[in-house]
Amino acid sequence: MFKKILIANRGEIALRIIRTCKELGIPTVAVYSEADRDSLHVVFADEAVCIGPASSKESYLKIPSIISAAQVTGADAIHPGYGFLAENSEFSEICQESGIKFIGPSPDMIRRMGDKAFAKDTMRAVGVPVVPGSEGAVADIKIAKRLASEIGYPVMLKASAGGGGKGMRIVHKEENIENAFQTASTEAAAAFGNPELYLEKYILNPRHVEIQIVGDSRGKAYSYGERDCSIQRRHQKLLEEAPCPILTPEVRKKMSDAAILGAESVKYEGAGTIEFLVDKDLNFYFIEMNTRIQVEHPVTEMVQNLDLIKQQILVAAGKEIENKPRKAVGHSFEFRINAEDPENNFRPSPGRIKYLHFPGGFGVRVDSHVYSDYVISPHYDSLIAKLIVWGTDREHAIKRALRAFDEFAIEGVKTTVPYHKMILQNEDFRNNNYDTSFIEKLTAKKLEV
Ligand code: ADP
Repeated sequence: MFKKILIANRGEIALRIIRTCKELGIPTVAVYSEADRDSLHVVFADEAVCIGPASSKESYLKIPSIISAAQVTGADAIHPGYGFLAENSEFSEICQESGIKFIGPSPDMIRRMGDKAFAKDTMRAVGVPVVPGSEGAVADIKIAKRLASEIGYPVMLKASAGGGGKGMRIVHKEENIENAFQTASTEAAAAFGNPELYLEKYILNPRHVEIQIVGDSRGKAYSYGERDCSIQRRHQKLLEEAPCPILTPEVRKKMSDAAILGAESVKYEGAGTIEFLVDKDLNFYFIEMNTRIQVEHPVTEMVQNLDLIKQQILVAAGKEIENKPRKAVGHSFEFRINAEDPENNFRPSPGRIKYLHFPGGFGVRVDSHVYSDYVISPHYDSLIAKLIVWGTDREHAIKRALRAFDEFAIEGVKTTVPYHKMILQNEDFRNNNYDTSFIEKLTAKKLEV
């Protein structure tokens, strides 16, 4: 087992990883920027190293500083969390060259599966259904036009290196494709340093359903079931649930088998997520793979009664992981509590938390690095806490979530708490009658009133 793990991240996920390391008896090293001195991940790690100023570029993204911190403290493994360097193949490679185990896939795997167009081709080749579209990237507008008229509008242009909902354009008519191609390509170049786009059919009103897998070091992959992440704003997830309430056992099994097939075909090692879109007839189509732990992993942990960070560490250390076939028990939701103002177009709301009380009780979990008097920095993403609930079934979990939100008190900054309460009271949401367009429709209705 590892002697010491450095966590190359901040916020709730850094604390989440420290908790598992403690339970495994592995000492931890936190790294932090000058803006994060008072963050809980710094308090709870065994050691902490300041790696630079507030700007992510000069701290959490600065590879030499992180590697030096590991060398100075004698850490023999690095957990990257999600975001920052988690899907950076260069970082994974430098860890390898420095004799430090990167807790995640190999540089080559990140490069291959992180390229969305390549990942689609890989899945297509082994017979996993993918959204109809271009094979690989689209070279120019002329080809995009031809392909789009073959597939039929509406289509979506997506950045090969994309993430976080950026670099995507829905195109409804041929006359708009040229403009969309140019703006998406420019946006992709600016955001990801890669202007390449690929094209696919725009699936109308789908559900976003993803399978959590873990691949071991011998080429076997295991599925830990699915999560439904259809409640999204601008293609970014707001709340997630497990299991997906529209799947039949047959479709669930087919999706899991497809995810395992895809992962094993590339000998995927570590935790990964295979994302699909599911249409009204329960046809499913692969869209992309994430080669890291995800924000929403706790809903899987709750219904599988399994620590996914522990599985990641075990795989990286070449040990056996939980590999018995598993069935989800009960139902779980995760609510992303962002310091944002839902009344003001979700504008970030940094500042001092004047008062904070987290809910508790049976079936309630809060993953967070903040506390009363904590100052939320404007430098990082606005996720300040995740409320995760478990119930015996979906209805019970909704009631428990409402009860938990009643106990949730936060003052000094605006958050998404009231927005989640509104969603939980929405009849369509409660009746499982929703898809990825839910928030857009909700916003439109509110504006009408
Ligand atoms: P990112 O990596 O930026 O998160 P994804 O490919 O995972 O991008 O897509 C994010 C979301 O965008 C999906 O969950 C879905 O709601 C929407 N989306 C992506 N591709 C399509 C498509 N072909 N048809 C309809 N919606 C799509």
